[in-house]
Amino acid sequence: MAYIQFLGAAGTVTGSKHLIKTDPDSSGDKGFQGLIDCGMFQGPKEWRDRNWQDTPIPARQIDAVVLTHAHIDHSGWIPRLVKGGFRGPIYATPATIDLCGILLPDSGHLQEEDAAFYNKHKKSKHDPALPLYTLAEAEASLQYLRAVPFGDVQQLCPGASFRFVRAAHILGSSMVELTLLNKEQTRRLLFTGDIGRVRDRNVAPGKVVRSGPVEGEETDILIMESTYGNRQHPTADPRPELASLICRTVERGGSVIVPAFAVERTQKFLFMLKELMQSGQLPAVPVYCDSPMAIKAVEIFMKHKEEYSEDTRRLIAEHGSPLDWPGFTFASTAEQSKAINRVKNPSIIISSSGMVTGGRILHHLQQRLPDSKNTILFIGFQAPGTRGFTIKSGGREVKIFGDIVPIRAHVAALEQFSDHADTPELLQWLHTFATRPAATFLVHGEPAASSQLRDTISKDLGWNVQVAQWMQKVQIS
Ligand SMILES: [Zn+2]
Repeated sequence: MAYIQFLGAAGTVTGSKHLIKTDPDSSGDKGFQGLIDCGMFQGPKEWRDRNWQDTPIPARQIDAVVLTHAHIDHSGWIPRLVKGGFRGPIYATPATIDLCGILLPDSGHLQEEDAAFYNKHKKSKHDPALPLYTLAEAEASLQYLRAVPFGDVQQLCPGASFRFVRAAHILGSSMVELTLLNKEQTRRLLFTGDIGRVRDRNVAPGKVVRSGPVEGEETDILIMESTYGNRQHPTADPRPELASLICRTVERGGSVIVPAFAVERTQKFLFMLKELMQSGQLPAVPVYCDSPMAIKAVEIFMKHKEEYSEDTRRLIAEHGSPLDWPGFTFASTAEQSKAINRVKNPSIIISSSGMVTGGRILHHLQQRLPDSKNTILFIGFQAPGTRGFTIKSGGREVKIFGDIVPIRAHVAALEQFSDHADTPELLQWLHTFATRPAATFLVHGEPAASSQLRDTISKDLGWNVQVAQWMQKVQIS
């Protein structure tokens, strides 16, 4: 029996990992067993513990991995799979491979730091606590990545092939169209990975990569993400509000501090600032980008011009790399980061981590949260339990480096920066399908979001939709 088994991102938004197994046939084709995505579980311990479980088919017997994009919840289990004996190719788009080159080693480094922290504070029941994989193991796993450009057909075995099509979620992001041939029967499967915003530039302004997932799809089985299955993003253009809140802060003599993910979100924000400064809507205040990873990510963005949106293409044609823009300073060393603390004039400081769980943003907030002249601006989702959530939800104080820091700065949030399509956008995309899939499985969503999207699609399109369950096997031929 050929089947899909949902090894992750079922009942949650992390750990994307779907096993495909096809049968051998009489012509000597031994069949295919591989993974679409190989993501790490993040968030609650109950899910993170599953990072330590082996795949149902031993890693060394898995033929290949096909990767939709570089986010850790889709790629972060690769070093662990390689550590377990996997030696096959990992297919990805060229930009995804470049981004994995910075994200996977960083993930290994964080695993080691976490294990060291637990050992020091004896907080783990595992003695000693071990990293899921190390920086060196993450670097070693990169050698198995193989570039497949968008649109090229890549054979996996005589009876299985795939091609990448655009998902418009982040740089390099793709959907996987998988074709399985068995006894003259062809089965098509579409794995969406994460789906980006729709084409309308006014709905998702400032997008660095091109908008709009590929349209007119035709598939027998659709495996689709459902992160925003019960939500709608604000439709107002964020630029006027952004300009106004920066201007008000500067007039008070304060600075704007922006916690942002180093890859994609930081670049998107930098491009929007440049655009607002060029059009005279913002004064040319100094901009500090304090993240070595963001610098590496800008370099990768500069390499992949084929992915740019029209606005980005125009900005880069006129002004070159953000790393060379006058008034924009990128801090790579710890010394350069500390120097930003001495800046007293109004400025804009962008740093990570995006949810204030660690990283250089902590220094900037420790110094600037107590001053009511400043503004803390959130441009990303803040998970409950994080410092970012405490600050964003109106907390009066927050603990940083063991100290209680009072929150007197203004706090603002713009919700338009999401890189995921919301429910109306997902429906708009599904309406472009050439034919109705025989079955649709929703993955990558909290249970409430997935089940609401299932009901909405059933009602709106009349499709056969189910919410995928963790470890569920679905027969595909
Ligand atoms: Zn993603």
